[in-house]
Amino acid sequence: MAAGRGIASGLLDCFFPPHCCACALPLPDAGTRLLCQNCHDRLAATRLNAPLCMLCGRPLSADADSPAVLCLNCRITVPHFSMARALFPYHGPAGAVVKAFKYSDQYHLGADLLGEGIRSGWFPDFGAGCEAVMPVPLHRRRKRRRGFNQAELLAKEVAGHMGKPLSRSLLVRVRDTRSQTTLSARGRVKNVKDAFAARGAGMPESVLLIDDVFTTGATANECAKTLKRAGCTDVRVFTLVRTVE
Ligand SMILES: [Zn+2]
Ligand SMILES: [Zn+2]
Repeated sequence: MAAGRGIASGLLDCFFPPHCCACALPLPDAGTRLLCQNCHDRLAATRLNAPLCMLCGRPLSADADSPAVLCLNCRITVPHFSMARALFPYHGPAGAVVKAFKYSDQYHLGADLLGEGIRSGWFPDFGAGCEAVMPVPLHRRRKRRRGFNQAELLAKEVAGHMGKPLSRSLLVRVRDTRSQTTLSARGRVKNVKDAFAARGAGMPESVLLIDDVFTTGATANECAKTLKRAGCTDVRVFTLVRTVE
């Protein structure tokens, strides 16, 4: 997402003076959280639950007569990853936290939110069989500019929870791609094409890939394609939030 005027002013609204990132209500305990109590309490109710597309995790409309198992996108093009799951929808309070933590010095708040979800027992067990946890990498230039990779912070939380090794060097971003936010679905696929490369020996057979946001799945899919070319046979994807359209 481009750090444009809208985001900059949104962040100012969040921090000076502190307001809830989701509903803009003033926050009494400045600096320790981004959500008011009410929005925080709404998190549980906004979780993404079944029925979900078996592959990409997109919520499906409940139809008792003919329950669909795949969304239209996955029926047209089968993704390279085996399964993707997210905890919350991007349009809810969790999405507001993700937007804020990505562009602030309070970047631990996204991982804190994930930690809370894990402690609440909301983390899906679909990645239990994976050998390693891997963040979607940032290009080294962008990581240097930003100072952190938000996917890596989330991946650390997941690896700790699952007791799995965190792998930060087997997948690298070799092209500093432009932001995906303003691009169409087709443009996103093109933008990340061949943007990643597998490095080094010892590629695990199964990987749980972590990112903050799943939008069209173009980035996750390109990572999965790269990992599978390097010998991985099963790539699962977990994101904190996903868009639901
Ligand atoms: Zn609020
Ligand atoms: Zn799908």
